[in-house]
Amino acid sequence: MILWNEDALIGGHAALDFSNTVDDQDKLREISRISDWSTFLEWAKVSSMFSNKQIDALENEIQQTEIPRLLANIHALRETEYAALSCIVSGEIKPNVAMQTLEAGIKTAINNSSWVLDDISYKWAVNRDNPHWVIDVLTLSIEDLLRSEDITKLKECGRCTWMFLNKGRGRGRQWCNMSTCGNRAKSASFRSRKQ
Ligand SMILES: [Zn+2]
Repeated sequence: MILWNEDALIGGHAALDFSNTVDDQDKLREISRISDWSTFLEWAKVSSMFSNKQIDALENEIQQTEIPRLLANIHALRETEYAALSCIVSGEIKPNVAMQTLEAGIKTAINNSSWVLDDISYKWAVNRDNPHWVIDVLTLSIEDLLRSEDITKLKECGRCTWMFLNKGRGRGRQWCNMSTCGNRAKSASFRSRKQ
């Protein structure tokens, strides 16, 4: 059972917390924390990505038969997002396949959505009649991250593939979490010094 506590939400943006739903302690991204619909639902509830109405729809309106395809699309989107963000972190600014795939997905998500007044500003609201709406919510959150100035603060953990917005000065933080990757990196360098 995955514990979706504040340690799972260190990205600084909901789209980064989504990319960070893997459990690997290295760069492989082979262990997904979203292994089935119930773990996705638990993550959606603690993340700031979905509204209360959308959470209700996730719990009560998704057909069982849709779930395998939805989970496959969620995983594919997450890995495309990670690949695109990795290019940004490594300073690769030329167009890449991952960013082009995201661009196509963003266009589809906007096309599926309505332009609505939200309190004092406008935003894209996904259409829940569209069976693809869950993917649209995730995609529009990634679009929000990519368009924000915060993207210049994007950093990847020195040990795993979790990403976060580095709000500190200078080099700032190196690890997703001091208590996990930070400590592992420290004890690894201690071991190598002893040898
Ligand atoms: Zn890490």
